[in-house]
Amino acid sequence: MLSEFELIKHYFSNFPENKSVLRGIGDDAAVIQIPDGKNLVQSCDTLVSGIHFPKATSPFDIGYKALAVNLSDMAAMGAEPHSFLLALTIPEVDEGWLRQFRDGLLELAEQYHIPLVGGDTSRGVLTISITINGTVAAGKSICRNTAMVGDDIFVTGDIGDAALGLKSILEEMQDDDYAACVEKLNRPIPRISTGIRLHDVAASMIDVSDGLGSDLQHILESSGVAAKVWLDKLPVSATMQRWLTRGNDYSLCLAGGDDYELVFTAASKHRAAIDKVARATECKISRIGEVIAASASQPSLILIDMNNKETAMSAKGYQHFRASR
Ligand code: ADP
Ligand code: MG
Repeated sequence: MLSEFELIKHYFSNFPENKSVLRGIGDDAAVIQIPDGKNLVQSCDTLVSGIHFPKATSPFDIGYKALAVNLSDMAAMGAEPHSFLLALTIPEVDEGWLRQFRDGLLELAEQYHIPLVGGDTSRGVLTISITINGTVAAGKSICRNTAMVGDDIFVTGDIGDAALGLKSILEEMQDDDYAACVEKLNRPIPRISTGIRLHDVAASMIDVSDGLGSDLQHILESSGVAAKVWLDKLPVSATMQRWLTRGNDYSLCLAGGDDYELVFTAASKHRAAIDKVARATECKISRIGEVIAASASQPSLILIDMNNKETAMSAKGYQHFRASR
């Protein structure tokens, strides 16, 4: 059986390199030179088998998604990914599994030129925890607490497909072709180039991991504002449109999670600049609402339906450790 050292050498030593990594895998800790004038941006995301992905997910997709969700956090700050660390917990050493897992990870690492600079390996329930490092021009990170009353609200891509893909797997749904939705669930596209180009344009930003409604509410709460969102402006795929036309409500779009699209707010004077970002990065960006003043008598997120009727967001996004009743 491979020792931890051999395992790392065999499977995790062929990742991209970067001169600013002064010490990478093989020492007690990685040493990284942060360029002058940049802030270091760090984030950590864990995927646990059976909770964050169905147990039957392919090892390639697990590796891919583990890095994609971390890259998405960099995108949401407007940061450029730099390098990452991998804490891998595996029930057993299965070399075929490791190879495919590594290939999924490597595909995105190569696409974004990010070295694997360290990690940890242990035995237990399959759990992948990645810490990602990024950089952003000093003071330019795009945070959650800076939305302004009067801002437009935008979202990238289509929303709800990942949740529909997951539902189609769990409920073995066969009434439509859900392959593209399952693809979005397993291989989310981190919106790195779009996030970076939103510097000087977006006032606040977050990525959609728990559902558009609950993630937008994080912006509203930390900025002390409220929002109106027009349901008929929510960008949906043809498959999601058919799902809605069959009488289903918007809960998969608002509370489904796993989209890894960006939600951001921006002053209305930036609309033309945002169209330019969308074209330059080949990423659809839709205007879905507006930031309004918070008021004690109203919910913070007001949804406006096709008949111009206001409703509050009732379905909450997926929440870990929600108090049990
Ligand atoms: P330590 O005993 O200091 O924790 P380890 O024996 O766990 O060191 O790890 C040895 C080296 O291998 C370290 O540089 C560590 O960052 C790296 N490493 C361990 N596991 C992984 C992994 N899964 N992926 C990448 N690097 C790893
Ligand atoms: Mg260790």
